[in-house]
Amino acid sequence: MATVIDGKAFALRLRDYIRLQVASLKSQRGIAPGLATVLVGTDPASEVYVRNKARQTTEAGMESFQHKLNADTSEAALLELIAKLNADSKVHGILVQLPLPRHIGTERVINAIDPTKDVDGFHVSNVGLLGSGQKAMLPCTPLGCIMMLREQLGSLRGKHAVVVGRSNIVGKPMAQLLLADDCTVTIAHRYTENLPDLCRQADLLVVAVGKAEMIQGDWIKRGATVIDVGINRIERAGEIRLVGDVDFQSTAAVADAITPVPGGVGPMTIACLLFNTLTAFCRIHGLPEPQDAGFALAEGIGVLREFRHAS
Ligand code: NDP
Repeated sequence: MATVIDGKAFALRLRDYIRLQVASLKSQRGIAPGLATVLVGTDPASEVYVRNKARQTTEAGMESFQHKLNADTSEAALLELIAKLNADSKVHGILVQLPLPRHIGTERVINAIDPTKDVDGFHVSNVGLLGSGQKAMLPCTPLGCIMMLREQLGSLRGKHAVVVGRSNIVGKPMAQLLLADDCTVTIAHRYTENLPDLCRQADLLVVAVGKAEMIQGDWIKRGATVIDVGINRIERAGEIRLVGDVDFQSTAAVADAITPVPGGVGPMTIACLLFNTLTAFCRIHGLPEPQDAGFALAEGIGVLREFRHAS
C-alpha cells in the first residue's frame, strides 16, 4: 500500500512556521503582514473559501482586510478598490476571489493588482517571471504540490512528470515548477491520445482535471508518486462525499505515495497563500524571504529551496 502524503499535517507545520515568523516580525518591528480579500457577489462556495482564508490569516497573526461587494458592483468600482489596496501600506497581499460575475473582466482585474502583492500568482507579470525562470510569486496550489513532492522525494531531477490538465491556475504553472526542478515534463489535456499509456510512463503524476476518480490504478506505474489536485463532490451510498480526480483505492495499491482527497493538496493551498503573503511582506520591506530564512532546515524537511530555473 502506498504512503499517504499528509497535506493536512504539512500545512499545519507550515502555518506554525508562518505564525512564529509573524510573531517575531511584530515584536521586532511592530508590523505584521496584511492580506486583503475581495469577494464580489454571494456565491456560497466562494463565501466559504474567503471565510476560511480570512480565519487562517488571523490565526497566523496577520491582519485580514475583508471586502465584500455586491454582485452588481461595476468593473470600474472594483478597479478603484484594487488601486486603493495597491497603495495601502498595511496591505501586502491582495486576493480577488474567482470566479467574478460575468460583467467584470477577470484578466483586467487580476492584472490591475500590484504584482508584488499578487499572492495568487495570477498576474501576467508573475506568469512571465515563472515562465522565464525568474523570481515570481508562485500560484498557491502548484506551490503546495511542489513542496509535498520535494518533501516526499528529495530531488526530482530526471524524473518523468506527467501533468494532466493545463489550466492557468494549476496545470501550466505546475509544469513550469517541475521543469525548474529538472523533471522531464509532459502536459496532457482533453485532446491527448492514449492518456492511460502516457500516465503509465509517469514517475510523478499530477492530476488537475475536475473529473471524479478518472485516473484508475491500472494507469499507474508501480512506484510512482501521485498528486491528486481534484476536488469533486459526488453522491455515494446516499451521502455527499469529496473525491479527487484519482481513484484512491486502486491507485494506492500500485503507487509509492499518493495525496488523499480531502486532506492532501487542499490544506496546502491555503497555507501557501499565507506563505506568499509573508513572502510579499518580506519583499516589500527588503527582509530575507521565508524560503531563504530556512523553514525547511529548521523543520528538517528540506522543502523550501528557493525557486531557480535550471542553469
Ligand atoms: P479547469 O477546468 O480550469 O481545467 C481542467 C483541465 O483538465 C483542462 O486543461 C482540461 O483540458 C483538462 N481535462 C478535462 N477533461 C479531461 C480529460 N478527459 N482528459 C484529459 N484532460 C482533461 O480546472 P482547474 O485546473 O481549475 O481545476 C482542476 C481540479 O482541481 C478541479 O477539480 C478543481 O476543483 C481542483 N482544484 C483544487 C484546488 C485545491 O486547492 N486542491 C485548487 C484549484 C483547483 P482542456 O484544456 O483541453 O479543456
